Amino acid sequence: MRFTIGFKLKFLFMVKRMVLRVFNTMSGKMEEFKPLQDKHVGLYVCGPTVYDWAHLGHARTYIAFDVIVRWLEFKGYSVFYVQNITDVGHLTTDTAEDKIVKRAIERKVEPMQLVEVYMREYFKDLDALDVKRPDISPRATGHLLEMIEAIQSLIQKGYAYEVNGNVFFDVSKLDDYGKLSKIKLDAMLEGSRFEVHQDKKNARDFALWKRAAPETVLKWWSPWGTGFPGWHIECAIMGLKYLGSQFDIHGGARDLIFPHHENEIAQSEAMTGKKPFVKYWLHTGFLKINGEKMAKSLGNYITVREALKKYSAEAIRLFVLSTHYRSEIDFTDERLKGAETSLKRLYNTLESLEDTKKVSAKREPNEVEQKFGENVEKLRGEFVKAMDEDFNTPQALAALFELSKEINRFLDEQKQVNAEILEKVYDSFSELGKALGLFQQEKTEKKVGGKIADDLVQLLFDLREELRKKGDYGLSDEIRARMKELGLVIEDTAEGPKWKLA
Ligand code: AMP
Ligand code: ZN
Repeated sequence: MRFTIGFKLKFLFMVKRMVLRVFNTMSGKMEEFKPLQDKHVGLYVCGPTVYDWAHLGHARTYIAFDVIVRWLEFKGYSVFYVQNITDVGHLTTDTAEDKIVKRAIERKVEPMQLVEVYMREYFKDLDALDVKRPDISPRATGHLLEMIEAIQSLIQKGYAYEVNGNVFFDVSKLDDYGKLSKIKLDAMLEGSRFEVHQDKKNARDFALWKRAAPETVLKWWSPWGTGFPGWHIECAIMGLKYLGSQFDIHGGARDLIFPHHENEIAQSEAMTGKKPFVKYWLHTGFLKINGEKMAKSLGNYITVREALKKYSAEAIRLFVLSTHYRSEIDFTDERLKGAETSLKRLYNTLESLEDTKKVSAKREPNEVEQKFGENVEKLRGEFVKAMDEDFNTPQALAALFELSKEINRFLDEQKQVNAEILEKVYDSFSELGKALGLFQQEKTEKKVGGKIADDLVQLLFDLREELRKKGDYGLSDEIRARMKELGLVIEDTAEGPKWKLA
């Protein structure tokens, strides 16, 4: 068909022309995204420290990277996604104690027991949020030998020194230290943002290996005595091991820029002879509550588990994506409620398209339909353009809602639509929603759970129709009322009664 081919060509041309640009924290600029290997992307995102429940702050960061992965795949890249589990070495800022060990002592459990519980719960929560699992989730404690080897090599190369069973990275050996965070070391009051330690040559040096006190339970043998690794060496080693000495994207929330990511760069580049460790550094903004960062350590958090009791996974996702990933988000119940309502609007459009598909016509498209097809393509183009500009989800969502409005308006006016156009519009709309991780639920699955729910509702609906035909209005009305209570409404349409989500 002439019209369709024309559109396909136009669309292919648009996709080809569009280049993806990302904001690189390293350069502080938007850059064209060109991975190291043609169509393959190596991605490392710092994983959680598993000593407590995952909260909405975590959800914000991991949903953002989930959408980044989905968009890269949409653009035809294959992504190898590594996200570690921090199960040792992440110290508290105030008392410099291992967060996991501290909590395990408070709860009188084995540190690894605590880790196992919260790691499993973390996966359950992120699964419930429809966040795709990373390809691998390496645990820091599974890489002790690699870390010890790397620290030995850093000592040999003159980048690190050992004092009393502690090993520190000698920051003075690097002339470009601070290039990611742009921290002006000399201008800073030394010690104010660095851990103070009597064995350090210089306040800004950081620990690669820490000597364990005799009572410390989480410790390993090393050439420098028993101890445990520093948090920064963990991610550097797991990144190098699974993604190579140079890879494409490294991410995390913006609190990790300094010192965590800065120190990862220092160690990795010292080890690999100054090969640039990562090509693009991507950082998410914080999710805040009452103006403060939501954090386990501040105790002001709402767990993912609690949030999912009140809101659907996709409403949480929509709330997160309504703000650009680099900006801060303020959590409020109202915004979550608003997201739930907006989500319903998108699902209603999807359902209307599904319903109209059943009565579509196999004929040439008329002028109105052609115009509609053009508008849809235009809005699709706007969505793609927004996502290509540093994954601008709020703008992409604006295009998706505009598209939803355009479809509703069109379907309200038309009784029968050209089948090919309808199929194409349906595919576009659902494909764009899915690129953001939405539209994962089929009709009632969202509310009732399980694919079978749709068929059960249909069965109930059909039974009610039978009762009506037989004149049993009492029972049929009761079924209708009970369905309404469950959020399922029956509507009279030109093609007869139909059910949909309220
Ligand atoms: P943690 O469990 O503290 O090691 O954090 C795991 C990841 O979640 C890191 O990238 C953190 O920066 C990120 N994160 C923690 N809290 C928030 C928050 N409130 N907003 C956004 N990201 C966060
Ligand atoms: Zn990390």
